[in-house]
Amino acid sequence: MAELAPTVAVIGGGQLARMMAEPAAALGIPLRLLAEAEGVSAAQVVPDQLVGDYRDLDVLRRVTAGAAVVTFDHEHVPTEHLRALQAEGVATRPGPEALVHAQDKAVMRRRLAELGLPCPRNAVVADVAEVEAFGFPCVLKTTRGGYDGKGVWFVRDAAEAEPAFTAAADAGVEVLAEELVDFRRELSALVARSPSGQAAAYPVVASTQLDGICHEVVAPAPDLDDELASQAQHVALTLAKELDVTGVLAVELFETNDGRILVNELAMRPHNTGHWTQDGAVTSQFENHLRAVLDLPLGSPAPRERWTVMVNVLGGPDREDGTAVGRLYDGYPHAMARDPRLRVHLYGKELRPGRKVGHVNAYGDDLEDCLERARHAAAWFRGDLGNESE
Ligand code: ADP
Repeated sequence: MAELAPTVAVIGGGQLARMMAEPAAALGIPLRLLAEAEGVSAAQVVPDQLVGDYRDLDVLRRVTAGAAVVTFDHEHVPTEHLRALQAEGVATRPGPEALVHAQDKAVMRRRLAELGLPCPRNAVVADVAEVEAFGFPCVLKTTRGGYDGKGVWFVRDAAEAEPAFTAAADAGVEVLAEELVDFRRELSALVARSPSGQAAAYPVVASTQLDGICHEVVAPAPDLDDELASQAQHVALTLAKELDVTGVLAVELFETNDGRILVNELAMRPHNTGHWTQDGAVTSQFENHLRAVLDLPLGSPAPRERWTVMVNVLGGPDREDGTAVGRLYDGYPHAMARDPRLRVHLYGKELRPGRKVGHVNAYGDDLEDCLERARHAAAWFRGDLGNESE
């Protein structure tokens, strides 16, 4: 009799887990979800679900019982719980020894230095005096718990450095100081790697951040020097192998004005800079993540089209009466009629100012055209267009 496909447990009910459900359905792979609350993004599409706290080891045991592997929508599961699950025989992918490098920026920086990979100058600092010794201007980051620019401070003097220490003390974490990198742009190198060591590298992309949140991605990065592109892919493949990453690894990089690349951040899960792959690559990052954690042969990361542009749909500012100006389903008629080739992905999340509620992908031969189409659609959903008469 044919074997049933193994169940993949996913911790976290955000949009990344939701988007894993699409290729899981296509491949006939059952997912079991640990959602943080009822009705969250992925909980709307994964019927086999448990609502509970990912910081509770017993909850993690319940959701992984009988599953072949466990993987993640976010990086916040405590490392000691992952070690406990692994000791109990649960295949944790990525494993705790890898994941800690995406959880703790100080651990990540130390490992990168050991591997001789290029990063901004950095040091763990205990107080403001040590920041002064490190030198201004600089960037301060809490070592754990930051995301989307939260937990990052750009500081020019001692007074500006204070809030980082207050936040770190409240969270019981340390502060990392980094040189302020004068970058030309931000790049991302995304790879998938399986436990048996097969790896696939996607084209290097350029990403634009607004207020610390990824806003726009162009695949491949326009005018990127071939040598730098290979270096970026090489860094990502080296990290995936040396840290023994299983699943998707995203390496966020700075391209400096003098033509170097420096590693900024690591993420060990599908990443916002890889959303373009859903429509622009032969195999999406979500499918390759599932294939990788199940140790199946990986799919081709090759682009299907010359260019793909991804723009995030964020909730726009509320009106004075507190109602949202943005559009969700009610934005579909115009967006779809204007551009039948546009690919729209909404996450089933309510509009809130600044919240990521979806993204659009536009692909084709002409970069300017793709940029215009994707930006127009994102601005339309955000409510920046067509509300002028109100
Ligand atoms: P998060 O945990 O929010 O992902 P990051 O470390 O990626 O935090 O920082 C968020 C953003 O801040 C980056 O995308 C980049 O734009 C900027 N940034 C971070 N580190 C530096 C640095 N050393 N120099 C200049 N800009 C930086």
